[in-house]
Amino acid sequence: MLTGEKFFGSNAGAEVAVVAARPRGAEAGVRGLALFVLPRYRSDGSLNYHVRRLKDKIGTRSVPTGEVELADSEAYLLEPPEWGIYLILEVLNISRVANSIASAALAQRALAGALAFAEQRTAFGKPVLEHPLLRQQFVDRKVRVQMAFALAWEAVRLLDAVWLQRPRYSGQYHLFRLVAHLAKYWTAEVAVQMATWAMIVHGGAGVLADYPVERLLREAMILPIWEGTPHRQILDGIEVMERREAHHLLFRHLSPDADTRAVDAMAARVDAHLALGQEEKEARAETLRRPGSVCGLDRAPTPAAWERIDAGGPCCPFLRVGHGLGQFHRVHGDRHARRAQRLHDWLQVVAHPGSQQPTPQHRGQVPTLAEHLVHHLGDPASQVFGHDLGIPGHAQRTSVNVRG
Ligand SMILES: Cc1cc2nc3c(=O)[nH]c(=O)nc-3n(C[C@H](O)[C@H](O)[C@H](O)COP(=O)(O)OP(=O)(O)OC[C@H]3O[C@@H](n4cnc5c(N)ncnc54)[C@H](O)[C@@H]3O)c2cc1C
Repeated sequence: MLTGEKFFGSNAGAEVAVVAARPRGAEAGVRGLALFVLPRYRSDGSLNYHVRRLKDKIGTRSVPTGEVELADSEAYLLEPPEWGIYLILEVLNISRVANSIASAALAQRALAGALAFAEQRTAFGKPVLEHPLLRQQFVDRKVRVQMAFALAWEAVRLLDAVWLQRPRYSGQYHLFRLVAHLAKYWTAEVAVQMATWAMIVHGGAGVLADYPVERLLREAMILPIWEGTPHRQILDGIEVMERREAHHLLFRHLSPDADTRAVDAMAARVDAHLALGQEEKEARAETLRRPGSVCGLDRAPTPAAWERIDAGGPCCPFLRVGHGLGQFHRVHGDRHARRAQRLHDWLQVVAHPGSQQPTPQHRGQVPTLAEHLVHHLGDPASQVFGHDLGIPGHAQRTSVNVRG
């Protein structure tokens, strides 16, 4: 029997919920938590939990979030209580990776919507897309979306490799944890930035509920918060680097494609950071987590690396090529026109599905968990949390609550 309150419960009203709770007499802290399955109805058919209130939220309004009360509610222990912390971590691992895919998908949808608008909105005598400043912004934003996808899919690939592991975990599991923290943190940030920018591209129309971008920005706001805020990702990332040296695993993981000197310099920087006193280490932690600084690759990638980024496959994760892409395509200005054309073609596919299969290139190359995610989320290139987000030609699909 479980008794207590939950201030935020997504998908309130679900037939079955997974609940973390502390058995009487268990130790304090997260290690004392066990994981339970809680059905909606008791064995006698009466309601097993009570939703006190539904939250009035800025976004994710299609998913009811409730304040839930449990009073002697029937629940079933999942595995021995001492496994609770590991099971909770597993739930978080999967939901953080799913959040990363959703974030990248939302960013892509925002970009596609902005393109569709910029093509047809005329200002100063031509479509706004044809003004050089805006066009260059589209090129830069496309790279950012590709980087977000690459990082999210790297997290998927690593999760696929480790998700059946049990303690004592392998080095690859700790590497996954670090990449998952990076992916959750950074892709959510990209999603919010991209939705904000897409709204600006729409001008005044962007703030009107008549256009889908207004909803996109509202939906994006939750992505950095649930499944652990950026602060949590940063602090847990530090912990896995400190306790498991996950950063050295990461740098080894990157080494086939990265500049050795740059990686060594970054490794030294992270080690120096981890040696700081606790107060300073936390206070300055964000500087370690910025894209680019994560990889420490301050110079532009090679033309081959850029080609891989353009191809968009999991073989070219953002983590391997680092930032510097912006510098790269400014230096190689002669490529600008071709890249702009590719950008246009690529976004056309996203904005007008059906003209070509709008899947990321990863499909068919990804292992089972990734396929599983695609199956449940729908195509990540065209769907966020199962909601139709209003791009012309996109049929409404059944909502799938990935958090359920
Ligand atoms: C719509 C919605 C649905 C949700 N659904 C669920 C759900 O289904 N299940 C569930 O368990 N939870 C759910 N949540 C809760 C969500 O996961 C938490 O709100 C989120 O993790 C932040 O926790 P908090 O609200 O307690 O923030 P607080 O702990 O109150 O933190 C406030 C601020 O302080 C920062 N902070 C806290 N500690 C530190 C620190 N040590 N160092 C630096 N900064 C710090 C936080 O990052 C945050 O920015 C949901 C939330 C929302 C909004």
